[in-house]
Amino acid sequence: MNTMSTETQIKEMQPTTVARPCRFCGAGLRQTFVDLGMSPLCETYPLEADFQRGEVYYPLHVYVCEDCFLVQLEEYESPESIFSDYAYFSSYSDSWLKHCENYCEKMTSRLGLKQDTFVVEVASNDGYLLQYFVRQGIPVLGIEPAANVAKVAVEKGVPSLVEFFGAELAAKLAADGRCADLVLGNNVLAQVPDLNDFVEGLKILLKPAGVLTLEFPHLLRLIEHNEFDTIYHEHFSYFSLLTTVRIMEAHGLKVFEVEELSTHGGSLRVYACRVEDQAHEIQPSVRQLIAEEEKAGLGSPDGYMNFTRKVKETKWALLEFLIKAAREGKTVAGYGAPGKSATLLNYSGIGPDLIEYTVDRSTYKQGRYLPGSHIPIYHPDRIQDTKPDYVVILPWNLKDEIIQQLHFIKQWGGRFVVPIPTVAIY
Ligand SMILES: [Zn+2]
Repeated sequence: MNTMSTETQIKEMQPTTVARPCRFCGAGLRQTFVDLGMSPLCETYPLEADFQRGEVYYPLHVYVCEDCFLVQLEEYESPESIFSDYAYFSSYSDSWLKHCENYCEKMTSRLGLKQDTFVVEVASNDGYLLQYFVRQGIPVLGIEPAANVAKVAVEKGVPSLVEFFGAELAAKLAADGRCADLVLGNNVLAQVPDLNDFVEGLKILLKPAGVLTLEFPHLLRLIEHNEFDTIYHEHFSYFSLLTTVRIMEAHGLKVFEVEELSTHGGSLRVYACRVEDQAHEIQPSVRQLIAEEEKAGLGSPDGYMNFTRKVKETKWALLEFLIKAAREGKTVAGYGAPGKSATLLNYSGIGPDLIEYTVDRSTYKQGRYLPGSHIPIYHPDRIQDTKPDYVVILPWNLKDEIIQQLHFIKQWGGRFVVPIPTVAIY
């Protein structure tokens, strides 16, 4: 399939007068997946001086397309406004860095990457991943729209372009002879407002025998494990494998393998190549996982109906716990200030009256406040200094790592609280 026919195919799928069109297929969105109310943008951490100006709240109303089953938010804010001074620096989690190092080793041996090959990462952040290819002498290019984050990558020797990625930029790179043997995108697909333009760009950037890998949170696990706090304004789309395969096919890409990862509460790593590339046969893993998704109902609108009820239950249980702790005079602190905490806390109506403060290793966030809830963020030492009775782990996907790091709270009888999938005390 060539570029021209792909574009024509997508245009044909898009009716021209739909009020709320699906980001992929253009059908009108009518079915609610979950409505999480109103929340400010989750990666804007206000200073105390910002409070007087108020905060802008946007709806977190998630729909599922009844035609292609893409679960999605409407785009409420321009991506420039969200990502140009983005506070998320990937390099802050040890387990995530280990995950990336393993990926680089695996791909280097699997694809035979060496000095005359080329790796491009879309949304390369602070060079957290490409640094491992650089160490092996493999030429790389990072593409990262947030200038402050890309600057950190360049300082550690990872060449980075400060640009938004799409078909236009990919065509420019291709014209310069900079197509890649490996194109990768980790946790970026969800954040793309123009999904079709982005996936088309990925295809253009691939050498004829190039391999694309994408990692993203898996919708099936989001539903199963009740990970509703991973829904926030920066994540426009939520993918099942069956919808992903369909999107890739529309752009002349073939998903030939899939791996399930434990990152971000259950992610997929999909491997794709150009449809005309015969070197990769579709592995049984693809068929098996699609069958599992169909069994869970993700191939029909009914499979998306019961999520709202589970989400409400989680909110009620967390509030019950925190209110009881407050009435008993217990002190409760948080650990971490991830984007997902904004959804959980704002949807649940939790402020400093229930969680006094939180801490984070990111120096950018220290001295600031969580958006909406205005829970203050301190240096992690604050936990040792104030000895709270409970520590609520907000990045629950890193709970094992955090429980290990903070084991010292047991000395004063402190306990850990993990809010998702349902409140659990450790
Ligand atoms: Zn659709």
